[in-house]
Amino acid sequence: MLTRFAPSPTGDLHLGHAYSAVLAHDAARAAGGTFLIRIDDIDGSRSREDYVAASLADLTWLGLGWDGEPLRQSAQLGNYAAALDTLRARDLVYPCFCTRADIAASLSAPHGPSGAVYPGTCRDLPAPERNRRMVGEPHCWRLDTARALTVAGDLAWKEQGWGPRSANPLAHGDIVLARKDAPASYHLASTLDDAAMGVTHIIRGADLIAATDVHRLLQALLDLPTPLYRHHALVCGADGKRLAKRDAPASLASLRAAGVVGPTLAADLAAGRLPTGYSLRMP
Ligand code: GLU
Repeated sequence: MLTRFAPSPTGDLHLGHAYSAVLAHDAARAAGGTFLIRIDDIDGSRSREDYVAASLADLTWLGLGWDGEPLRQSAQLGNYAAALDTLRARDLVYPCFCTRADIAASLSAPHGPSGAVYPGTCRDLPAPERNRRMVGEPHCWRLDTARALTVAGDLAWKEQGWGPRSANPLAHGDIVLARKDAPASYHLASTLDDAAMGVTHIIRGADLIAATDVHRLLQALLDLPTPLYRHHALVCGADGKRLAKRDAPASLASLRAAGVVGPTLAADLAAGRLPTGYSLRMP
């Protein structure tokens, strides 16, 4: 068994991150397996080195040891570019020049599990226009999801404790695989890295269960193995809302400063016991 915890270094880790990290760590250790850390630092404008150091310090404080060096997404850009080239060669992606405002203004933009579903404006641009605009206009790369589904085959996956499921990527529309400002989207980077790291069990928050629709499709298109998934309940505050990075009192740094003992907290979280005022909920 190989599991991972993959923080984005864009803020302080909080109790929700600790819960996720504890579950992934303990599952690997109980099975005599491997626990890896990945730093999801692909978003250059929001990622900060001090958050990388703070996240690793928080995990150490919790008593969660990891194997090997943390892998950094910012060091995997060549893999992302190669996968995009593969999809481009198969005509499964297209450049999209739309701005957020263009998409929001489109009357036909319904909402799917990952926000507004892209109305497909740039999907069938004539080749000369596409080539001309690609030279000077900022663009992202989108998956032609309907077309991808015609070549993807079976999209089954297993959720631990629930059994077989089948991905429904169409509900997401043509998702972004490479952003205007980043060489890969979360979906592409995470799917490729999980495969490259040899992750066998993806243990993460239930807020990401819908993302699995997309990840499963990318695995099928790029010939990657399908891990087993476990999407766990989310830690919520007194208001019943899931924690966010701005919830300072729930940050691990605050808890540490208040005298909480890291390994005791980790053991409590593993047993589903949360500090007063917090609870676990499925979204
Ligand atoms: N960096 C992502 C996050 O913090 C990881 C998501 C995942 O585990 O796939 O949400």
